[in-house]
Amino acid sequence: MRVLIIEDEAKTAAYLRQGLSENGFTAEVCTNGEDGLHQALTVENDVIILDVMLPGRDGWSILEALRKAGKPIPILFLTARDTVYDKVKGLELGADDYLVKPFDFAELLARVRMILRRGPTRQAEVLRIGDLQLDLPRRKATRAGARLELTAKEFSLLELLVRRRGEPLSRTLIAEQVWDVNFDSDSNVLEVAIRRLRSKVDDPFATKLIHTVRGVGYVLEERAE
Ligand code: CA
Repeated sequence: MRVLIIEDEAKTAAYLRQGLSENGFTAEVCTNGEDGLHQALTVENDVIILDVMLPGRDGWSILEALRKAGKPIPILFLTARDTVYDKVKGLELGADDYLVKPFDFAELLARVRMILRRGPTRQAEVLRIGDLQLDLPRRKATRAGARLELTAKEFSLLELLVRRRGEPLSRTLIAEQVWDVNFDSDSNVLEVAIRRLRSKVDDPFATKLIHTVRGVGYVLEERAE
């Protein structure tokens, strides 16, 4: 397995190269963006470890150029800034995963192996039921081709319902999975969230997907009403 490391910090690059070599990878290092992109476009690699802050051409622009060139190679990006903005930006540009510096080598190795197990061609994971489509890597939902503007929580709630379609899910289970808490029994947070979600996912459409299961919770399935 060949790994291309695009990283300008000599110490980090050497540490990565050594660790990966010891674990059976062939690792090559590029220390600036231009060389990195050139190498990524011309040499076959199995995975790229891409630093974001690079002299010349930054990691974002390399990522964009590779995806525009139709290169499906898996990319793990390294960011020094632990901000949601950076993570979302990297994933939206088509990276497969990210690590925030400083990181443990063991974690990097685990991420690299996980990315490789997913296979050489990056497959966007998309869930579909009827005309509803959830693009999981991009956290985008569409129905009948139209984009649904969902909040992060609404997307998670919808994702859970779609993953377990046809299965009545209890309020407790939904609260635990989506909010990671148990609501007080008199809390109506879930009801409010479901109402909002329905207004976007179901109200404009003839076929309803989200249904109340009396005394239990909710189920997602196609039903004409
Ligand atoms: Ca850097």
